[in-house]
Amino acid sequence: MSAGSRVEALVTWVATQPDPVRLELVCAEHPDPRAGDRDQTVVRLDTCLSGLAWAVLLELVVVSAHVELRLDGCTDPDGARAVVTEVLAAAAGDRLTVRADPPRGRRRDVLVLGALPVSRRVLLGLGSTRAVVDRPPLERERVRQGLLSLGPADRYAGMAAPSADLTAEGCTFCGVCARACPAEALQVTVLAGEVKLVHRPSSCLDCGACTDLCPGQVLVRRGAVDWAGVLDPAPVALAAGRAGVCRRCGGAVAAAGGPTGELVCDVCAYRRSHPFGSRVMGPSAPAGRPNARPAADPRLDRYVDHGGVR
Ligand code: SF4
Ligand code: SF4
Repeated sequence: MSAGSRVEALVTWVATQPDPVRLELVCAEHPDPRAGDRDQTVVRLDTCLSGLAWAVLLELVVVSAHVELRLDGCTDPDGARAVVTEVLAAAAGDRLTVRADPPRGRRRDVLVLGALPVSRRVLLGLGSTRAVVDRPPLERERVRQGLLSLGPADRYAGMAAPSADLTAEGCTFCGVCARACPAEALQVTVLAGEVKLVHRPSSCLDCGACTDLCPGQVLVRRGAVDWAGVLDPAPVALAAGRAGVCRRCGGAVAAAGGPTGELVCDVCAYRRSHPFGSRVMGPSAPAGRPNARPAADPRLDRYVDHGGVR
């Protein structure tokens, strides 16, 4: 069992105990964490506290009555303290504390990851009826789920999240950004004659692949979405226009007007103007002018109908 999965097994162990657990977590290197409050369950991790994944710590807070991180005996106390981010502290409130000084008290058993005891009640199927944490496969989803189970989305307003706040003034709905996005956070949709570029901050990882590849450099990151926005699953429409269909690939384009009346998407226009080229279509706007339409390839503008969206 890997180190990560052993900590995840601790989440399941806590969630299935008959009574609420007050957890006390210590580093693998701690010389002797036995003295302390007997109402707390001491668990020695198999790594440093600073190596605790945010999603796992959040889940431990969700399933425990209280979690205490002990910095005494930790070889990287600053790193361990940094595990408790502003958002995590806001989510957990007084259910998560960090303790720097060694506690006093009587000696207790210290549990070790990978060898957690199974109580007789649990063996007889009389353990807690509290649901075992249902883990979505994506780390982002686990964090969203944990934060929402500890408080409403507006608790996290103003706290910057790893999600981009995008604008797309002048979007031609070519779909390059949507195809580049590794998190499927962008989508070109066509509904009732209207084409839209929609963004889901809840999925966005702020990786920059979309803004780097937008051919017209019209997709611009103006900052980060806050955690309240990330917890809201509603998509945001970045651009909208009357829908047309690219006559070459059948994909969506903005309709109406245009000097030639042709409806050809950016990608097909690029391919038509570079029939033997091996270069990938990409941004060509001058540096420092991210919203400027590139002048490098005028044929692109001739073939693409922007439908007044710009
Ligand atoms: S023009 Fe830019 S923002 Fe619009 S769909 Fe294409 S890549 Fe995305
Ligand atoms: S920043 Fe990355 S994850 Fe977010 S929409 Fe763009 S490509 Fe997708």
